[in-house]
Amino acid sequence: MYVKELFVDNFRNLQKQKIEFCEGINIFYGLNAQGKSNLLESIRLLSMGRSFRGSKTTELIKFGEDYFYVKAIICQENNDKKIEFGYKKNENKVIKVNGNKIKSTSELLGQLLTVIFSPEDLNIIKEGPSYRRKYLDSCISVVEKNYLYNLMQYNKILINRNKLLKTIKEGKNRSILEIFDDQLVEYGAKIIVVRQSYLKNVEINIKKFLLEISNETAEIVYLNSVGLKDASDEEIVKKRLKEKLLKNIDLDLKYLTTQVGPHREDFKIIINGYDSRVYSSQGQQRTVALCLKLSEFEILKKETGEKPILLLDDVMSELDENRKKYILERLQGFQTFITHTTKRDLKGDCYFKISNGVVIKE
Ligand code: ATP
Ligand code: MG
Repeated sequence: MYVKELFVDNFRNLQKQKIEFCEGINIFYGLNAQGKSNLLESIRLLSMGRSFRGSKTTELIKFGEDYFYVKAIICQENNDKKIEFGYKKNENKVIKVNGNKIKSTSELLGQLLTVIFSPEDLNIIKEGPSYRRKYLDSCISVVEKNYLYNLMQYNKILINRNKLLKTIKEGKNRSILEIFDDQLVEYGAKIIVVRQSYLKNVEINIKKFLLEISNETAEIVYLNSVGLKDASDEEIVKKRLKEKLLKNIDLDLKYLTTQVGPHREDFKIIINGYDSRVYSSQGQQRTVALCLKLSEFEILKKETGEKPILLLDDVMSELDENRKKYILERLQGFQTFITHTTKRDLKGDCYFKISNGVVIKE
């Protein structure tokens, strides 16, 4: 698939305009703070339903205005698909695919496939478990149909279970805890099994990329909440999760939060035998992040049978010549959007200059 055209209105600093892209490599160049990342953000918004920079939807509205609207025409097997995203301050967002309003973000996922590479990817390696979980969940949500739904159900039950803990501590409702636990286990096990399988897939890919790029070995260790080396059997996972919940009830009651479950999980990336988060150099971590993203891209491609679109925000300036060459070779044949401060050093199929929110095709 590829994005044929984009229309933006009141999105961040971008001027109201329609932009036509080419099918191959699109280069956007311009000085700092002109709107390059904003442009990629608008495309990614139509893909994931939210900002890749973690901004709230309301922050995407141009300063001084009260709404924004973004529309893209996507070409897929010679058919055109239209995706629209509109948001007015203090109202609900409206997302439409081919003119039909969709009910939830999960229905949007999979419509426009993108993988974003940005300097913040380094945080997936460096930051704490919640950052990695968020990343993992967003990747899986696109390729596994019910994952987001199961995760949302799990989180709802978790909130209610934590509220229940408070009443149990006050001497009430102990008898209904098991009902909550059973529901938590039901959804929790589904999440764990899918995470295990996705991470296995990541491991296969990341091993290959890291070996090719820097001749290093990689291993992924899924730190699941059931303490199983292989958490691929849903029934076994369910049984173990239930046991863990029962075992931890005293701690749960002490802290009034649920101590075990998918909401506490993490994964480690082991490079040459050592945890990359703790022992790798900044450059090594950057390479690992790049390989992780390339793995995400490979899995997305394989699972959907589609050609995803690549969004490279400011990553070229951070890579050495070998890595730059490697990544550009891998991205041949896919629509790619690259932002950079200069036009030099990058070979593209079409070029756009961005200045003060105006995008001009050359
Ligand atoms: P760099 O090369 O530094 O990464 P960039 O071209 O990617 O720059 P953007 O991140 O796209 O820059 O931001 C461009 C400008 O948009 C910034 O000056 C920023 O302050 C401005 N901006 C951010 N949010 C809004 C908003 N809601 N309304 C108007 N302008 C905004
Ligand atoms: Mg930028």
